[in-house]
Amino acid sequence: MKVPYVSNTDIDSAVIELLGKCATKLGRELLPPIPVDDIIEKFLGITLEIVDLQTRLGMVDVLGAAYFDENVIRVDENLLQLEGRLSFTMAHEIGHWQLHRPLYEMEKVTVGYIGTRVSVPDFVCRSGRKPPAEVQADRFAARLLMPERLVRIAFHTIHGEGPFLLAGLRNHQGDTSVVGPWSELAKAVLIQGNFSNVSIEAMRYRLDDLKLIRDKESTEAQPNLL
Ligand SMILES: [Zn+2]
Repeated sequence: MKVPYVSNTDIDSAVIELLGKCATKLGRELLPPIPVDDIIEKFLGITLEIVDLQTRLGMVDVLGAAYFDENVIRVDENLLQLEGRLSFTMAHEIGHWQLHRPLYEMEKVTVGYIGTRVSVPDFVCRSGRKPPAEVQADRFAARLLMPERLVRIAFHTIHGEGPFLLAGLRNHQGDTSVVGPWSELAKAVLIQGNFSNVSIEAMRYRLDDLKLIRDKESTEAQPNLL
């Protein structure tokens, strides 16, 4: 399925809208760990199945799949051992539901599909391959599991005001000297904010995305960016 460009601001709004609806229904703010399985089943009324998707779809790298007409999200059972990836995949599928299902429904009306397509996934989500719809769903997932306001509160409680400056963040991202302190910071934020269903890697990228961690050299060269 081809999808149009969706800005990060639009994705932010979609996540805030969903969390707001959940909070209204629940009568309180949804706090980390964000219960993505409950959002799927209780708030969105979608059936969630953890199955051997790899065999079912004949793909070794499949993580999850969204079946719009069946109203089902299926996640591969191998992820049960990896809580961070399991939650991220569920949040990613919610992203397809919120961002892409309306387009699918519109297309269905325009093109004139008849009946329902059972057991044919509309999105098959695999590791490695990232067409635009997958990138959008990933961005949605990161924002849903790690809401900006709550990440900022946890980060500033640990670090105080201002970003964490790290030498080599841009040019030596894979080096141990960079990954080490970056991971330590991410881990501290996970603990402080109770983001217990998020992986260290996902929080690392979220901190970078929110510019809470910045490249030391380029920030010192352009201090007005702070
Ligand atoms: Zn996907």
